[in-house]
Amino acid sequence: RVGLMAERAAAEAAPKGPLILAVGSGKGGVGKSTLSANLAVALARQGLKVGLVDADIYGPSQPRLFDNEGVKPEAKDSKMFPVPSRHGVGVLSMGHLIEDGRAIAWRGPMASGALGQLIDAWWGDTQVLVVDLPPGTGDVQLTMIQKHKPAGAVIVSTPQDLALMDARRAMNLFEAAHVPVVGMVENMSGYVCPHCGNVSDPFGCGGVEQAADDLGLPFLGRVPLDLSIRTGSDAGQPPAAGEGPQAEAFLRLARQLVP
Ligand code: ADP
Repeated sequence: RVGLMAERAAAEAAPKGPLILAVGSGKGGVGKSTLSANLAVALARQGLKVGLVDADIYGPSQPRLFDNEGVKPEAKDSKMFPVPSRHGVGVLSMGHLIEDGRAIAWRGPMASGALGQLIDAWWGDTQVLVVDLPPGTGDVQLTMIQKHKPAGAVIVSTPQDLALMDARRAMNLFEAAHVPVVGMVENMSGYVCPHCGNVSDPFGCGGVEQAADDLGLPFLGRVPLDLSIRTGSDAGQPPAAGEGPQAEAFLRLARQLVP
């Protein structure tokens, strides 16, 4: 139903290399990195060989999410090997290359060059490479998607109107580069109180589905605002690797992409 498999069929005829699935958002803080990490783990649980590139050059968070902070990638013939993680997903991030806490103050072209090296690495038999894009819709994003041609893109948004407007902008960015948007995800959708079980909607609910509808894009599903998603992520334990409703939310999304 959703485009990624169709894109894969098309890519099978193309030169080898993993299929790139870009995860984008119109603005920061909507859970794009969290979704990228958990989608990668969920796709790996579907039996695919999955890698992840943290293209958020200025604010890398994937080494923390995958609990492989401080590990330097090995290299051969001036190409890097992905850094392994406990969850079967190889990861490459600027965070693996800089010393702890050092600010990255590069100009656009250097950032794009670095990003190219993360993508043109020894990905071996990796089938799907999830790319966690930087937030927003600027030049680095456009260069990246034009140069590395993702087979498809997922847009993540919270249900707030402002984030939605930004999501529309993200869609325009992908369309400008002829990258098919395979669907939208609503993150932080509905909050289950850990004490009383009451469900509330701090950011509203259903807005992303409505927007996807308006934009003619598939709606892939929602991920609730759940404290355990944040604590698990911070502790390097992607919820998608575990059991229960949190894992199921991400596994459902992965099944939408690769039935
Ligand atoms: P982005 O990559 O869009 O900037 P992050 O993935 O870094 O966003 O998420 C921002 C913060 O929100 C992080 O602390 C993350 O753990 C938290 N977060 C993301 N999604 C959820 C969720 N569904 N439930 C609870 N916390 C979440």
